[in-house]
Amino acid sequence: MLKIKSDQAQRTMAATHPPVATVQPGEIFKLAVQDCYSGRLQSPDDKFTREMWDSVNPATGPVYIADMAPGDVLRVEILAISVRDFAVMCLEPGSGALGRFIPEAETTILPIRDGRLILDHGLELPLNPMIGVIGTAPAGEPILNGTPGEHGGNMDCNLITAGAVVYLPVQAPGALLSMGDLHALMGDGEVCICGAEVAGEITLRAGPGDRHIPTPCVETADHFHFLASALTLDECEPLVLEKAHRFLTNGGITPNAAARRMSLLGQLGVCQVVDPLKTMRFSLPKLALGK
Ligand code: CA
Ligand code: CA
Repeated sequence: MLKIKSDQAQRTMAATHPPVATVQPGEIFKLAVQDCYSGRLQSPDDKFTREMWDSVNPATGPVYIADMAPGDVLRVEILAISVRDFAVMCLEPGSGALGRFIPEAETTILPIRDGRLILDHGLELPLNPMIGVIGTAPAGEPILNGTPGEHGGNMDCNLITAGAVVYLPVQAPGALLSMGDLHALMGDGEVCICGAEVAGEITLRAGPGDRHIPTPCVETADHFHFLASALTLDECEPLVLEKAHRFLTNGGITPNAAARRMSLLGQLGVCQVVDPLKTMRFSLPKLALGK
């Protein structure tokens, strides 16, 4: 099985990056990924510095998916995520949505043992390994991996776990897929600016998806989750609603019937509020697709 090393990483998503590998549609492969700090924080004495912003969120790739062309939808199936034996969290006064509650900067190393994350005060939590950054090359200018958008990127959706399927737009030949910013655990909002940041390995396969699915979209066992990013949550909300409504009407459901189903069954949620653009999701149970 092809395995791409974590040093094959970029700081942006761009159509101009030469692919680090080519895979066939449906071929299973592995991506090793660095943590969001590029592995530079390994002990409580290692502090996050402003100049490190330039190197946050290295994303392994890009990977050229054969036969994918602009206008297609890429279907990415996350088969497994494994993480190393410790995670890092880095707090800073003024950073994130909780910055006013942080009296001083602190780097915390959180051990991971037997599938559990060990926190302070003896609290142990089950892991939920997820992918913070996953995207394809945008059509226009390169986009920094700190930023989410219509190409995917730093969406920080904690539903992107093993078993999830992610649908992304194809805007460059081969789609040019890359990913990074693994979290061993992260709540909705990522309110202190980081999750349990961790390096690890992702096993996946990618290929053509249904072109009628508005992207970015995450499919889990019982739901489709439509994602959008904008400067404010107020601006995100109509974007995710439009995608979910379009998905239903594309499937032959009338506009009014689609609105009723969304109002009765949908769940409007927040992925993250701490990146340069915020990300929301509208989750639609597959039950809503019934005729
Ligand atoms: Ca992130
Ligand atoms: Ca992160």
